[in-house]
Amino acid sequence: ETYDDVDDKKVVEEYFNTTGFERWQKIYGETDDVNPVQKDIRVGHAQTVDKILGWLDPNTISGKTVCDAGCGTGSLSIPLASRGAMVNGSDISSAMVGEAEVRAKDSLPAEKLPKFSTSDLEAISGSYDTVCCVDVLIHYPPDKMSGMVQHLAGLSKERLILSFAPKTWYYKLLKRIGELFPGKSKTTRAYLHDEADVEAALQQAGYQVTRKDMTATNFYFSRLFEAKPVAS
Ligand code: SAM
Repeated sequence: ETYDDVDDKKVVEEYFNTTGFERWQKIYGETDDVNPVQKDIRVGHAQTVDKILGWLDPNTISGKTVCDAGCGTGSLSIPLASRGAMVNGSDISSAMVGEAEVRAKDSLPAEKLPKFSTSDLEAISGSYDTVCCVDVLIHYPPDKMSGMVQHLAGLSKERLILSFAPKTWYYKLLKRIGELFPGKSKTTRAYLHDEADVEAALQQAGYQVTRKDMTATNFYFSRLFEAKPVAS
């Protein structure tokens, strides 16, 4: 069996409902039971979230609708909701969504709770002022990237915020090292994306990149784009 035979989405869903859930809910949490690599990823990811919160001005985000596609345990949904945004968070993993619900209830008053649901990104419908999709593209093979980006653009009225692992030599090297030590499951497969390809997909969807950032720690690499419809 080669990796190409695997149905990506089914593998991803199962992973994030089992071993991936255990791993990532710790990384995205606050407890001390993380190893140094997980701690490094936690710190890097928190920087990405902070940058997005900085882009989404607290003075104007209140009352806006936000779709957080692939919301995980709610790391972005929850602070956005606390700033008054009306957040719809969804994720293909029911375990991640369940954890997001628990965390939201722990930290937000009932009237501010995001609406969480279990959903494949491609099944999300509706129209939102802002659509965010953070660190999810790593699970999409290159030939599925453009369709995914265009689907997200179709859900968004004003702004799309997208992050992905960039195809840089250093990260490629890390991935190669990872492949030398494959785990039992096929979970370490990570897809990197060429920045130019992502920009081209946004352009096709009628969007232009308006802001860029990059977060890099030792083990966490995430390119962050804000894009807006060309006409506005
Ligand atoms: N966006 C969250 C954050 O930054 O905290 C979670 C990032 S985590 C690395 C990737 C998430 O994407 C997982 O929770 C996974 O279940 C979700 N995911 C992967 N493929 C998906 C898909 N096709 N539809 C919806 N969610 C998906």
